[in-house]
Amino acid sequence: MLHKIIENLKANPQDVCYELNGVAYRNWELYHHVCRIYRYLRENNLPQKPVAVCGQKEFYMLASFLACACAGMPYVPIDDSIPEGRRQRILEQIHPLVIIDQSIQTRLQNEPPSELTEICMTDEDVVYIIFTSGSTGDPKGVQITYRNLKSCMKWLESLCGVSNGVILNQANYGFDLSVADLYLPLLTRSSHFILEQGIQKDYARLFRALRQSHAELAVLTPSFLDLLLADKSFRTGLMPQLKTVLLCGEKLMRQTVEQLFARFPGIRLINCYGPTECTFAVTSAEITDPDDLPIGTPKSDTDVLVVNDQLEELGEGETGELLIVGESVGKGYLNQSADRRFLRYKGRNAFLTGDYGYRKHDVLYCLGRTDTQIKWKGYRIELAEIESTLNRLEQVERAAVTAKKRDGRVSRIIAFVQVKPGCCFGPNEIRNQIKTELPAYMIPRIQLVERFPLTANGKVDLQVLLEEMA
Ligand code: AMP
Repeated sequence: MLHKIIENLKANPQDVCYELNGVAYRNWELYHHVCRIYRYLRENNLPQKPVAVCGQKEFYMLASFLACACAGMPYVPIDDSIPEGRRQRILEQIHPLVIIDQSIQTRLQNEPPSELTEICMTDEDVVYIIFTSGSTGDPKGVQITYRNLKSCMKWLESLCGVSNGVILNQANYGFDLSVADLYLPLLTRSSHFILEQGIQKDYARLFRALRQSHAELAVLTPSFLDLLLADKSFRTGLMPQLKTVLLCGEKLMRQTVEQLFARFPGIRLINCYGPTECTFAVTSAEITDPDDLPIGTPKSDTDVLVVNDQLEELGEGETGELLIVGESVGKGYLNQSADRRFLRYKGRNAFLTGDYGYRKHDVLYCLGRTDTQIKWKGYRIELAEIESTLNRLEQVERAAVTAKKRDGRVSRIIAFVQVKPGCCFGPNEIRNQIKTELPAYMIPRIQLVERFPLTANGKVDLQVLLEEMA
């Protein structure tokens, strides 16, 4: 795969490969920049340790990812916008020998270009590590091998059928949704059209960018699509070239599909499903009926089984946990030799997702989570991570976090907090303290309580607290 990408960059130097904020970058620029970073990594004779690549959506991030991959070093995208405390906790886990950031980029960009001599990545090497919310209170690093990535991209290439087109990027590089729109353009001689970070806060700019994109494929979360659909001008007239929308990461809702079909007649809508641990996605369904929203069928080298607590496969129509088995299953979490969710199943690698669902006529449906992991505005969040962050605060006696839902989607995260006796610590102070540890999308609404009501079996009764609030 990397050979194919590099050959394409060299063979078609004038093709535009990346567009951000009105600036178009060409293949030759990408190739030269990859070579500079690659040489820097190799000249410093660095062992195959993870490389932290820090920044936002910028051209050098893409060049760095490719350079690390070619040099045989796993890259770890670290978004600049995350709080310092979280960034430090990630860096402590990866112990990088190299951090590529804006200053290294500035230093390298004026160096003379060189050639890429050898692609060092092998199938079993880890190609990237993406950090997701962790239930123990620390973000956890998901390791994906080159073999996993190749299998994913081969599947996506045939699924999307795009060639010489423009692919719209929505996701930040710290999220695995971006893996699809990073590699697909490079493999299909297409161009990335980048929506700059935070652009959704400025509708006028966002819609100007969409109009200018000429994108034929958009890779989005359903939440982001809803945000676009909230504006009436999001319709064929704005993006006449748009042929396919690939959604992934969240439950798809009927009203999203109805609105999309009404505004973009004839559009192809693909619903993909899968966790970061299994390389972006493992199933896909072409959606044609807003009343029937499956996650579809698995890619050919991967199975998705519906199992019970004993990992026995269940029959058609029976509800159980989704177990992913095969080529897409990643290498596990960084620095954790064993995790109960990564397992061997009949001689193959498997991942127990924590999602429950069922199979009907060989098509899979996802019903929700068996635990307290949620999706909020497209972001994956372990409520337990917010809870442990709050419980670590000196002034907090106890905290419990829950998500309020409306129409099947999370509408708010609420933390009930009991402060230590005699402590004057209000919601604002609590919020300010956790802001140094958690990204903005994980900051809950804080509700102070004097005591926690308990259920009959002695657990915190969140339902009572939610009712008291209403
Ligand atoms: P992430 O690791 O951020 O990709 O999140 C993975 C989780 O998002 C899955 O385990 C599911 O809970 C949820 N998810 C992903 N895709 C879908 C989908 N198409 N429908 C329902 N839930 C989904």
